[in-house]
Amino acid sequence: MTANLLDLDLDGLAAFCQRLGEKRFRATQLFRWIHQRGVHDFSQMSDLAKGLRDKLAGQAEVRGLRLLSQNLSGDGTVKWLFDVGGGNAIETVFIPEDDRGTLCVSSQAGCAVGCRFCSTGHQGFSRNLSTAEIVGQLWFAEHFLREHLKRPERIISNVVMMGMGEPLQNYDQLLPALRVMLDDHAYGLSRRRLTVSTSGVVPMIDRLAQDCPVALAVSLHAPNDALRDNLVPLNRKYPLSELLAACKRYLVHAPRDFITFEYCMLDGVNDQPEHARQLVELVKPHAGAKAWCKLNLIPFNPFEASGLLRSPTERVASFAKILSDAGIVTTVRKTRGDDIAAACGQLAGSVLDRTRVDERMARQRTVLLKPVKEI
Ligand code: SAH
Ligand code: SF4
Repeated sequence: MTANLLDLDLDGLAAFCQRLGEKRFRATQLFRWIHQRGVHDFSQMSDLAKGLRDKLAGQAEVRGLRLLSQNLSGDGTVKWLFDVGGGNAIETVFIPEDDRGTLCVSSQAGCAVGCRFCSTGHQGFSRNLSTAEIVGQLWFAEHFLREHLKRPERIISNVVMMGMGEPLQNYDQLLPALRVMLDDHAYGLSRRRLTVSTSGVVPMIDRLAQDCPVALAVSLHAPNDALRDNLVPLNRKYPLSELLAACKRYLVHAPRDFITFEYCMLDGVNDQPEHARQLVELVKPHAGAKAWCKLNLIPFNPFEASGLLRSPTERVASFAKILSDAGIVTTVRKTRGDDIAAACGQLAGSVLDRTRVDERMARQRTVLLKPVKEI
């Protein structure tokens, strides 16, 4: 079988090369060609011996994702939809800011957690993405943007695992993908600029702390178990006390000295002053101890099937004030790319949904980039 080299981190590639009778430094060269230069054709890898290039051509390939569509929001956000077979599609979003470029990456087609406010959750679970499919999103986006923006230097400085899917329910495929993203011979992201976002898979938070402690964001959304059981069904398995204890354990290994809690503001559901006060009690440090978390309030991005509404701006502001007044660092997330349905929780992803997505694109004066080459 032909191996897809996007499936391998550097150790995996070294083992593969060893089986071909090659030394580790050859794997490093190959890894750099693929990830730093975006080359998929072995014949172009000019500093590899012809014999090795021929061997690779017979046994391996660098196979990216199949692009279905691309659109550009008025605010510069780009959303790509990739076909992953079997009627499934996944989405990747690039969010440019003055001082950074962030890529929001998917980890699964669909999601099994089934949060009430999440469009991916409403679709149900289709399958885990492979390492190649996770890495392939960054590989494509980085090299596409370099070419499109005519900038030879690195464009993506931050990756957030906040696209479709629950990354910690696809741990075995996620881990090598994170290692590729961090590797200096590939994308060289720092651990603080690579964030895994989870709805709270407690045992896997502990494993991540041991294996690859990148920045951690935890989707909280409720200050008590009764409400969280309802919004994030995984809470019935791993209730708040266990989740918060795992977050505190993670801090010992984390690249930052805080955990980010995400809290999606749902009108009349979890946005009352009482909820803010409960939240303060839940996360405030013990007397004399240092703050250990930050709160990121996300305005809900509505979609019809949820039956939920976004909290009014003033309510988000007064909720934030209760937290800030209690000494908890709180930010309100700016929504980006909502004109192209690229905002949090709007990632649709089923090919069957595409007609809807396409109509919306047409309505919203989406500016298409130049035709994209298929890889
Ligand atoms: N499964 C992981 C990562 C993907 S979701 C997780 O749940 O953390 C990324 C973030 O988007 C999460 O914080 C999630 O709660 C939030 N989100 C999901 N649906 C949303 C919506 N409709 N509006 C705003 N944020 C949403
Ligand atoms: Fe899955 Fe995250 Fe959506 Fe919940 S919010 S359904 S965990 S993708």
